[in-house]
Amino acid sequence: MSEATIRKVCVIGAGTMGAGIAAQVANAGVPVLLLDIVRDPANRNAVAEGAVAKMLKTDPAPFMSKAAAKLVETGNIEDHLARVAECDWIVEAIIERLDLKQQLYAKLEEVRTPGTAVSSNTSTIPLDHLVEGRSDAFKRDFLITHFFNPPRYMRLLEIVAGPASDAALVDRIADFADRRMGKTIVRAKDTPGFIANRVGTFWIQVGLNAAFDLGMTVEEADAIAGKPMGVPKTGIFGLVDLVGIDLMPHLQKSLTSTLPADDRYQQIARSFPLIETMIADGYTGRKGKGGFYRINRAENKRKEAIDLATGEYRPQAKAPELRGPAARGDLAALIATPGKAGEYAWAILGETLAYAASLVPEAADDIVAVDVAMKLGYNWKYGPFELIDRIGAAKLAERLAAEGRPVPAILTLAGDRSFYRVEGGRRQYLGLDGAYHDVPQAEGVLLLEDVKRNSEPVLRNASAALWDIGDGVACLEFTSKMNALDGEIMKLIGQAVPLVQQRFKALVVYNEGSNFSAGANLGLAMFAVNIAAWGEIEKLVAGGQLAYKTLKYAPFPVVSAPAGMALGGGCEILLHSDAVQAHAESYIGLVECGVGLVPGWGGCGEMLHRWQTNPKFPKGPMPAAAKVFEIVSTATVSKSAAEAREYGFLRAEDGITMNRDRLLADAKAKALSLVDGYRAPEQPTFRLPGAAGRAGMKLAVESFHKRGMATDYDMVVSDTLAEVLTGGDADLIDTVTEGDLLALERKAFMARVRDKRTQARVDHMLSTGKPLRN
Ligand code: NAD
Repeated sequence: MSEATIRKVCVIGAGTMGAGIAAQVANAGVPVLLLDIVRDPANRNAVAEGAVAKMLKTDPAPFMSKAAAKLVETGNIEDHLARVAECDWIVEAIIERLDLKQQLYAKLEEVRTPGTAVSSNTSTIPLDHLVEGRSDAFKRDFLITHFFNPPRYMRLLEIVAGPASDAALVDRIADFADRRMGKTIVRAKDTPGFIANRVGTFWIQVGLNAAFDLGMTVEEADAIAGKPMGVPKTGIFGLVDLVGIDLMPHLQKSLTSTLPADDRYQQIARSFPLIETMIADGYTGRKGKGGFYRINRAENKRKEAIDLATGEYRPQAKAPELRGPAARGDLAALIATPGKAGEYAWAILGETLAYAASLVPEAADDIVAVDVAMKLGYNWKYGPFELIDRIGAAKLAERLAAEGRPVPAILTLAGDRSFYRVEGGRRQYLGLDGAYHDVPQAEGVLLLEDVKRNSEPVLRNASAALWDIGDGVACLEFTSKMNALDGEIMKLIGQAVPLVQQRFKALVVYNEGSNFSAGANLGLAMFAVNIAAWGEIEKLVAGGQLAYKTLKYAPFPVVSAPAGMALGGGCEILLHSDAVQAHAESYIGLVECGVGLVPGWGGCGEMLHRWQTNPKFPKGPMPAAAKVFEIVSTATVSKSAAEAREYGFLRAEDGITMNRDRLLADAKAKALSLVDGYRAPEQPTFRLPGAAGRAGMKLAVESFHKRGMATDYDMVVSDTLAEVLTGGDADLIDTVTEGDLLALERKAFMARVRDKRTQARVDHMLSTGKPLRN
C-alpha cells in the first residue's frame, strides 16, 4: 500500500488543529471534508465555514495557495457524518475530552467503510482509552497522529500505534504524512504526552522553577535558556508567552494525572501565584493582554517585561552577555560558569537531559526519536542526546551522581562514549544493546549532509562547493555566510560548467541552509561603494550575468532546488535553470527594488521571457512588461512554492516537494529525467513597448505615490526598472536581444547603486534587516 491510496480525507473538529490539518491535506492537493458541530441552526456548517474563512486571513497562512483552499469542503457532523464513507482517512481533532471522542468513534463505527484509517490528534489521552468499547475492526484501523501547531509549519508528526493497529495501515498513513504532507514521522509509544510534549513540558517547568528560585529576571533566564543551548531565542518565558500561559496548568494537570507517581515530573510540577494571577487577569501571553513580556502601547510601544518578584511591568532590560567558550555554545563551560548564569544553565540542563535520558525505552524506542522530536517539535537545534554529547555523557553522569541524583541507565550504558559517532562516513547512534547502529533514514531520502560526510568536494572555494551526488549528477552548494551570493560563487559556477560537462550528466543547485539564498552579498557591495570602487561593482554585476547565462546555456540540464528564501540573485538562479524542484516552503521573489536596486543578474529578461511565452497570458509587448513591472517594482515575494507559480517565478512544469528531506532526491531525479535528448535553450528575443510603455508605468506608480503608497524615491527606482523592462529609450522596440537587456540591466543597476538614497536603503537593510522607506 502506498500514500497514493489516500484520495480523500475527512477531518472532524475545525478548531486550531483540525482546520490547520485540513489545510495541510489540501496543500498536498488532496480533497478534504472538514466537519464540526452544529452551533447555528440557521447555518448548520457555520463552524467549519468560519474556520476556513479565518484561515484565509491568518498570517502566516495555513493555505499555500488559493487553489488549495478550494479543496476544503465544509460540513457538520449531524448531516454529513455518513460521508466519511467516501474517505480513506478520518482525522479526529475535536476538543480534548475522552467521553466526546468515544461518542464520536461509536458513531463513526456505524458509517465508515472498514479499512478506512481513523486517527486521533489527541495530545494526552492514551490510545487504549480512546478505543475502549470499539470493535476489533475499528481497533485495527485506529492510530494516533499527533500534529504540532501550526500544522503547516511544524515538521513533526508523532505517530502512536496500538497493539491491535494494522501495521500496513499505519505505514500507509505515515507515508502519506511524510511524502504528501511533508512531515517527519517519529514513532512514539503510548505514554503520556508522547515524546516532545513530555520532554518539553518538563523543560519549561524546570526553567520556570529555577528562574523563580534563583531570582532571575525573565530576560536573564531567556538569554541563557535560548541561544546558548541552541534553543530559539524566545527561551522559556518567551515561548510560554507565544503558546499561551493558560495552556500551562492544563498540560501540567494532564501530565500529573497520567504519569506514574514516581515520575520525576510529579516532583517538579509546581504552580506560581504570579502565574495564576496573570492567567486570571487575562495576561495569558501574546494572545492576551500581555505575558512575561509585552509591548506597552500607552508608552509609545515600549518593550516591557514582568518583574517575577513584584508582578509589575518595567522596561525590558538587556541581559548581561555571556563570555568566553560559554558564549560560543560550549555547554560544559556554560554549566560550569560561576554565578547565577551557570547555576541556571545547570538547573535546566541537568534535570531536562537526565529526564530525557530516562525516557528511552519507556516513551521512545531509541535516542534518535527523542532528538528528532525535540528538534522538530520545539525547534531545538540539538536534541537532548546531542546536547548530552556536547557536555559529555560521562561528565553529566558524574555531576548527577555527585549531587546524589539518580543516573539514568542509558547514561551508565554510554559510559565514556558519545551517543552519536561517525564511523566510515555514516552517522551512528548508541542503541540500548550498547552497540552503535546507523541512524535510520526514511526510504528514498538523500541528504547533502551525508554526501559531505562521505566524500571530498569535486571543487571548492570560500563561498561554494561542487559535490558528486551519484548517478552522474553533481550538486552545486553555496557555503557562504547565509548563502549570500558573491564573486567566488560566480567563479565556481564558471569552473563547474566545463567540469560537469566532462564528468557528469546533470547539475543540481541545492544547499541545506535554512534559506537557499537571500541574494547578493550587500555588505560586500557597500564596501565597494564606500571606497567608490565602481569598477568592482560593475564587474560583480557583469560576472554574475555571465555565470548565470553560462548555467543557462550549459550543454546539460540544470535543476535548482530551493527551500526557504530564494530572493534577488537567489531567485535569478532559479530563473536561469532548466527546471526547478522547489520545497513547498519556498519564498521566492525579486526584491531588489526594496533596497533601491533593480535585478541585475538577468532576472528582468528571464521574467519578461516567461510572461511573453505564457500561453495563458495576453500577447503583445505591453502586457508581459507591465506584469513583470508590477511584480518586481513591488518586491513581491511568494509565500509558498505554489504561490511562486502565480508570479511566474516557477513554471507549471516545475516540481514541488512537500518533505524537506526529500528535496535533493526529487531534484536529482528531475535532472536525470531531462538528460536524454537534452538541448540547451535557444536565446530569446523580445518585443518591448519602449518609451510609451515606460510612460504608462510611470503613471501607474504616480497614482500610488498620490495615495501615499509609494515614496519619492520609489518613483525613481521603479522608473529605472521600467526603463529596463520596456527596452530603453526608443519607441516601440521590435527585437531586443538578451544581450541588449543585460546591458540595460547593468546600466540601470549602476545608476541606482551610485545614488545615496539607494545606499541609505542598503545600509538600513544590513543593520536592521528591514527595508527603509525613503
Ligand atoms: P479547539 O478547541 O481549537 O477545537 C476543537 C474543535 O472541536 C472546535 O471547533 C469544536 O467545536 C469541535 N468539537 C467539539 N466537540 C465536537 C464533536 N463532538 N464533534 C465535532 N467537533 C467537535 O481545539 P484544538 O486545539 O484544535 O485541539 C483539538 C485536538 O488536538 C485536541 O485533542 C488537542 O488535545 C489536540 N492538539 C492540540 C494542539 C494545540 O496546540 N492546540 C496540538 C496538538 C494536539
